[in-house]
Amino acid sequence: MIETVDPAQAQAQLRAIWGFSEFRGLQGEIVGHVLAGGQALVVMPTGSGKSLCYQLPATLLDGLTIVISPLIALMQDQVRALSQLGVPAAALNSSLSLDEQRQVERRVASGELKLLYVAPERATSPGFLRRLAEWQVSLFAIDEAHCVSQWGHDFRPEYMQLPELWQVHPQAGRLALTATADKVTRREIAVRLGLDGARMFLGGFDRPNLRYTIALRDGGKEQILRFLRNQPAGSSGVVYCLSRRKVEATAEWLSQSGFRALPYHAGLDQEVRSRHQAAFQCNETSIIVATIAFGMGVDKPDVRFVLHLDLPKSVEAYYQETGRAGRDGQPAEVCLFYGLQDLVTLQQMTEASSAPPEIKRVERAKLNALLGLCETMRCRRQVLLEYFDDSCEPCGNCDTCLSPVTGWDATEPARKALSAVFRTGQRFGVAYLTGVLRGQSDERMRGLGHDQIPTFGTGQDLGEKEWQSVFRQLIAHGYLWAPPDANGGLAFTARSVGLLKGQEQLQLRRDPVRASTSRARSGSGERRAVSSDERTPLFDALRVERTRLAREQGVPPYMIFHDSTLVDMARQRPSTLSDLRSVSGVGQTKLDRYGEAFLQVLNSFEEPAAQGA
Ligand code: ADP
Ligand code: ZN
Repeated sequence: MIETVDPAQAQAQLRAIWGFSEFRGLQGEIVGHVLAGGQALVVMPTGSGKSLCYQLPATLLDGLTIVISPLIALMQDQVRALSQLGVPAAALNSSLSLDEQRQVERRVASGELKLLYVAPERATSPGFLRRLAEWQVSLFAIDEAHCVSQWGHDFRPEYMQLPELWQVHPQAGRLALTATADKVTRREIAVRLGLDGARMFLGGFDRPNLRYTIALRDGGKEQILRFLRNQPAGSSGVVYCLSRRKVEATAEWLSQSGFRALPYHAGLDQEVRSRHQAAFQCNETSIIVATIAFGMGVDKPDVRFVLHLDLPKSVEAYYQETGRAGRDGQPAEVCLFYGLQDLVTLQQMTEASSAPPEIKRVERAKLNALLGLCETMRCRRQVLLEYFDDSCEPCGNCDTCLSPVTGWDATEPARKALSAVFRTGQRFGVAYLTGVLRGQSDERMRGLGHDQIPTFGTGQDLGEKEWQSVFRQLIAHGYLWAPPDANGGLAFTARSVGLLKGQEQLQLRRDPVRASTSRARSGSGERRAVSSDERTPLFDALRVERTRLAREQGVPPYMIFHDSTLVDMARQRPSTLSDLRSVSGVGQTKLDRYGEAFLQVLNSFEEPAAQGA
């Protein structure tokens, strides 16, 4: 049997190594459970501090903790962050030479290492299993445990073989962790990883520090610039685009507009991609413009915004991509711009795919859920959480909460729109239909006799934008659709006739003129932001020192100290090493390594003379 550890020791360790005064959310309970030798499945959102749930026990348990992790970049990141904390850790993966591998194995055998990160394909190799038998192992942590699910998009076949590891050390604890697992996936994880009796820790899906905004694209670049200029200077952010070409063009345009922006997509050389990702990690560039190829390996905690310039594929994808912002728990802004064309394109892509009907049905449902989120008049967070069977009160931190959207009775205009679609033969796009409704005939229209239909000119009370809004929402709510071979032409669905005949009423959203994308204020309940009033000259001076140390150490600045730690330092202004210890995020090793350097900045800092009176 494995020895157990007194929970009070865990609290002390949290303070001593990480410099944190309290556990977050379920962390304390999970750590206690693991230290008592229990097995667990942890499902908590990104940024909730899952890694600590095995890292902290690893430092207290006698033997080795083996962490299975599917991404080499993340593994190396964690190992570097741990060594900054003074915790001996290493990784075994395909990037090591044979010599380096042997060296890691020697360090394990000598008992020097507390954590060993292993890629799944390595962990299940016969050579590794043989060596494993010789080591004293107290805990297995399986990160990204949803990779064991055959139905998920991250399926890793090697995850299925992981139980061979527990067979070697059946007495060791087991802790599986993931940020994304619905009920079915959770059961699958438990069954496939042999976690039947494990306790489940469910953290909920809410990311309270993210501010959600979904706004109509107004077509201009000004809208994008306005959003970016609203972010505190130098903030790190990701801008997602659908195509490689748009990524390239956007990155170039942003650079010309004075932003430090680099592109990232699967069409770039591996070397270029690594270079751009590294520049982002080290704050040498602030913005990464990327396709969804960018993401899996990104663990930067201080991403302050995620901006989608195109609709993501599903609500899951939206949640995952926006989830890369604000891992550090500080306020972050996520914004999506979309328009009528996105709907038509995505619908056509779904319908045109050669997938079997049952898959298409699922894809259609996923697209509809996403459109529902975009077109809702309710709190975005509520709609998002409900999708994952979770819930919350209206959040006060999304665009619809901050500037409530009004509805209007659109039954009559909708009937006119449907009539126009029907009488022109269900094959024309929005621009043409709007022309018909507004009575703007051209040669083509006259040639087809569409200036003679009863609907012609009946919609002059609404402007072009308003008709666009009506058509967009009719598509989003399933009253019209864009068949794949119709070149953007709209056609009836099963729901159209009822509405056309006046058997139902239709409430539509009045599109806001300009959605609020202002930064989160640190109101009640919200976590504190690194807002502009906290970016004092002292904070900036501390950042400069951090950058210097990070360069010296060859690590990203956030591995020295997080922004929140520097903010805390600037506020408390400690003048001795023991004062410095009470700053959140300053553990013993970092105090030893960097304490003097930061004290020097703190003690020699002189407030610039106040301007004016
Ligand atoms: P996850 O793996 O769940 O996405 P991480 O383990 O990367 O989350 O942790 C997210 C961030 O939260 C990290 O920057 C970590 O330093 C910080 N963190 C974790 N636990 C605590 C805590 N108890 N107090 C303060 N910060 C914490
Ligand atoms: Zn809300």
